[in-house]
Amino acid sequence: MQARSPVEWPMLSEFDLIKRYFRRARTGNAVLGIGDDCALLAPSPGMQTAISTDLLVEGRHFFAGADARMLGHKSLAVNLSDLAAMGAKPVAFTLALSLPGADPEWLEAFSTGMFALADLHDCELIGGDTTRGPLAICITVFGEIAPGHALRRDAARAGHDLWISGTLGDARLALAGYWKEIALDPEVLALAAPRMHQPTPRVELGRALSALPIGHAALDISDGLVGDLQHILDASKVGATLDVDALPAGPALAGQALALRRRFTLAGGDDYELCFTAPASQRDAVIAAAGSANTPVTRVGTIDAQPGLRFVDAAGKALEMDVQGWDHFSGE
Ligand code: ADP
Ligand code: MG
Repeated sequence: MQARSPVEWPMLSEFDLIKRYFRRARTGNAVLGIGDDCALLAPSPGMQTAISTDLLVEGRHFFAGADARMLGHKSLAVNLSDLAAMGAKPVAFTLALSLPGADPEWLEAFSTGMFALADLHDCELIGGDTTRGPLAICITVFGEIAPGHALRRDAARAGHDLWISGTLGDARLALAGYWKEIALDPEVLALAAPRMHQPTPRVELGRALSALPIGHAALDISDGLVGDLQHILDASKVGATLDVDALPAGPALAGQALALRRRFTLAGGDDYELCFTAPASQRDAVIAAAGSANTPVTRVGTIDAQPGLRFVDAAGKALEMDVQGWDHFSGE
């Protein structure tokens, strides 16, 4: 990545910067947007507000010098993914930015990537904060959900099917390629890389699932399936049996050896797919909901009364798997 000389703050005041890059035509989602001490939201009558925050720090969540446009997309995408996992409809978001300098080229690209995704989901930027410091991006999203319809982690029940949206592992494969953990053909890396840089939040699927009149659990997979699924199992006080060979590998990972496929689908990272449960009697309803959301889904296991996570292969034979989810505090 080419090094740029940062433009110092005085050339562009904080207010000019906000006006130029972040204040734009209102969508009408908020009563009052950027410009006052607070934004004002008027929730639709009878609806609940879903709120989530994600903080992305340079060198930790993205490479130093990462492409600004893709970073703008990803910063919002990871937040929309949390709304998706709850089944909520996006309404608005705030943006807190810590910037080493006011680089017009960077700001233009970042805001372009961010607003392209915001527009796709009709989510309005309603405020934020801007300060000088190491590059970090904190977005808070606000969404709407009907009472009782949120896809909560504590709603999995023994006998439920376990489902995954889309495919897993390509973001982790790209990371392995960048880190030179494994030697990847440039074409394979090029195929996998968009999954790492530009994840697709499964907003439509989450909303279609939450509209079904059945109790079910969901979360978005950001730190690897096994680690994240454990949150559902803990919250719901259940266990699960996972068919390792049913896990849908991404198109780049699909061409890799079985051991790597298993490892990266089970414990990848940055997948931003939904993992959800639903009664076995509701398979047709789940498939119809996924169809209406234009999102592929795959049944990958079952929820059990017996605590713990068990792995089986395509033939139903028990497998010993040594997998760990991504943990920002215990290692890379
Ligand atoms: P205050 O000092 O009262 O917190 P600021 O001077 O920081 O307000 O911000 C002025 C206005 O610009 C506020 O409405 C704030 O929400 C908005 N704002 C600041 N930074 C951003 C940003 N990065 N993106 C969007 N809105 C922003
Ligand atoms: Mg402020």
